[in-house]
Amino acid sequence: MVSAESSQLQLVDLQLPTERSTCALTATTSLPPRPASPALATRSPPRVGYVFSDPLRRAADRLPSNVMRSTFTHSLIAAYGFPKHMIHLLPALPTKEELCRGHSDAFVDFLTTVDEREIESDTSKAECEQFGLQHDCPVFDGLATYVSLVVGGTLAGARALVDGSVDVAIHWDGGRHHATRDRAAGFCYVNDIVIGIIELQRRFKRILYLDIDVHHGDGVESAFLFSPRVYTCSFHLHDLGFYPGTGGSSSVGRGKGTHHALNVPLRRGLRSPTFMHVVKSVVSEIYACYNPDCIVLQCGADGANGNLSGGKGDERGEGWNLNPNVFADVVAFLHGLPDTIVRTQQERTVPDRCPILILGGGGYHNATTARCWAAATASAINDPRVPIPAADDDVPEHALWAEYAAARPHVGTRADENGKGGYIDTLLERTITAIQKLRVN
Ligand SMILES: [Zn+2]
Repeated sequence: MVSAESSQLQLVDLQLPTERSTCALTATTSLPPRPASPALATRSPPRVGYVFSDPLRRAADRLPSNVMRSTFTHSLIAAYGFPKHMIHLLPALPTKEELCRGHSDAFVDFLTTVDEREIESDTSKAECEQFGLQHDCPVFDGLATYVSLVVGGTLAGARALVDGSVDVAIHWDGGRHHATRDRAAGFCYVNDIVIGIIELQRRFKRILYLDIDVHHGDGVESAFLFSPRVYTCSFHLHDLGFYPGTGGSSSVGRGKGTHHALNVPLRRGLRSPTFMHVVKSVVSEIYACYNPDCIVLQCGADGANGNLSGGKGDERGEGWNLNPNVFADVVAFLHGLPDTIVRTQQERTVPDRCPILILGGGGYHNATTARCWAAATASAINDPRVPIPAADDDVPEHALWAEYAAARPHVGTRADENGKGGYIDTLLERTITAIQKLRVN
């Protein structure tokens, strides 16, 4: 484990400037450049906003399921020199009214005052049980601050997209997709995604929510189950006993939101080529049928090799076995989507670029998760001057360098169960048919 002191030194080196000024940091990588997405070869690079503040990093580092992960992520991205190609966005502390857009009044009251409470009292223990603050979501020191800053970060990204100052906004400490209106769940204490999407609705009429975390995006799906203004699509591992257990193909939305929820249940051992084939086939069809004017990507990295249980005990890859660079591939694919659709549907008017809000999520091995999100960040910048680091390359020297040398990515040995019995072909056929049932309002 890395000491707080060493990570603090690295963050001092970040020298992040004030909000929405260009970040200043010297690139230290000497990796060979990978070509930019062909679809964007003729366009200028997108304006990318990057949410960061030192209070946010410190608060996110306390999350019991992801201790120090925020420091790993921001430090690696800084070490590569990516911040100087992005616009710095500061989290804005949300009001109670903004928190209540996604949660009940009572839940928000408890979350925002929990730091001052004496949890050992019987009354508070009962409230913790009522609001799901137990088991995998224990109360921790700094929880109220964490909740405010994580939501504030997602709101900062959403607002920058709403006011048009950026084309892409990234908030790696956000993406908490399991929390529901009244309860914390699955390491998620607050659903910043739901609150962020509601903010995006100030400008955008049809929002496509994509969730590539290995777990089903149940909290977001349930929040917009009745809404035709948000199309939720979750790619996840679906198996007996695997959390959260929801996300079967039969869940398609309700009322006016019928056919605006899509679930793509996948099996264990999934590898990158199959994953990308499924994502490209499904998302292209949604894009063509739904015509979204904004995309929110929950980019949980717990489907990466060895990242579900933190590496130890997951050598076989009990979940998925995705290469860390597949997250960069998904972002590059989203960048190129309008061009893809223009080529295939010449008669339609498609915007030059679809705004994208990119959020984090799961990922339980800090170094692996940081590698995934650093590669995705470079892909979001989409500039030939910014090479996308390969998954097995040495990382640039920085305070946490030794942690990467000790934790090389590995490929799980579990067989890919998705190839058996034509499962993927059947799944895709069923899924494409489901997408084509949606009604555009
Ligand atoms: Zn997850």
